[in-house]
Amino acid sequence: MRPKKNRTPRRALMALPAAAALMLAACGGSSDSPTLVFPPPPQTQPPAPPPPTAMADQAACQSLTPASVGGPMPEGDTVVIRWLGTSNFEVAYRGKVILMDTYYNRPARTRPIGIEVKDVKRADAILIGHAHGDHISDVAPVAAQTGAPVVGSQITSTQAIKLGVPASQTVTVTGTGGEALKYGDITVKPTHIIHSTIQTGLQQALRNLYEVDSLGPLTPEEVEQNATVGGGSSDPNLVQQGTMGFTLELPSGFRIMWFDSVGAMSDEEKQLAKDLGEGVDVGIYPWTPHSIAENQLAYTFPHIDLFKPKLFLPTHHDHIWNAWLDNGLEPLFMKIRDELPGTSFISPLYRSAICIDTSGPKKGDYIVKY
Ligand SMILES: [Zn+2]
Repeated sequence: MRPKKNRTPRRALMALPAAAALMLAACGGSSDSPTLVFPPPPQTQPPAPPPPTAMADQAACQSLTPASVGGPMPEGDTVVIRWLGTSNFEVAYRGKVILMDTYYNRPARTRPIGIEVKDVKRADAILIGHAHGDHISDVAPVAAQTGAPVVGSQITSTQAIKLGVPASQTVTVTGTGGEALKYGDITVKPTHIIHSTIQTGLQQALRNLYEVDSLGPLTPEEVEQNATVGGGSSDPNLVQQGTMGFTLELPSGFRIMWFDSVGAMSDEEKQLAKDLGEGVDVGIYPWTPHSIAENQLAYTFPHIDLFKPKLFLPTHHDHIWNAWLDNGLEPLFMKIRDELPGTSFISPLYRSAICIDTSGPKKGDYIVKY
């Protein structure tokens, strides 16, 4: 007896997709002795992505225009960090833009940052370290123009609302651990930190210095400009309770930590250091506005020493006319060079693009477009 052929029933054949039926015909098969040759299964692997553009060739790494005012975005796993004066920063990564602090409109005779408040139109989140005027004063127009949520402590939210941010656009965090906010591939974790203290008489002494050793009285136009600079909170609890550090985590585990004040170490900050173990890839901490380096070191260095960033970026070291002086970074850089050999440092200019590879064998490699 002939073995029964393993025939495909006609009904099933009719149900074959057109492509398979065509293939049958092409292979000379017939309904009597079908040789079923199906087309190869569709490729399950997506086509290989184009090779990443080298950092140096990326438009974002060649441009001095921040993404928040319409500049180019980085490609692939490159992150771009830009200092925007005082403690303002911008981080751009995988289609998302995070702004830290919003103090762009500064007093007359303070060097311009090169962007104006009205031009800041793109952000996915606005992180505010604390609610003093030189950190928060432009938050309302920036929030309105970007639609981004404003993230900070309770004192920050209260001040942001006072300045005109709708309450629904504020996100209040405690920084006591466990909070994580996702913006695309960027995870933002807040940590309660303590603001620095200013010794009695320092601010008056600096104002005296501006009177003695500067460019004479302000012109009427300069007085007018100063009237447009916004304000901040004078809540006495801000120093102990109202200040927040933020850690930005990328999918590869790459971490960027940003503080906009450095005071005594809070318990939450010490806990964060324990939790992170290996430290951070980029650490941004103020070189405080105190004017004597030996005193400044006592404020700033312990935080750098605690987190041992692979790359340190200074902040809050530039002047604000009639308030703070430009502070030389050499004493701090010398101490880092001598005591933290695993930490490199850059002092970028306003809007300089710091491009960093955040994954793969080149993780941590960076270039700077000054
Ligand atoms: Zn402050």
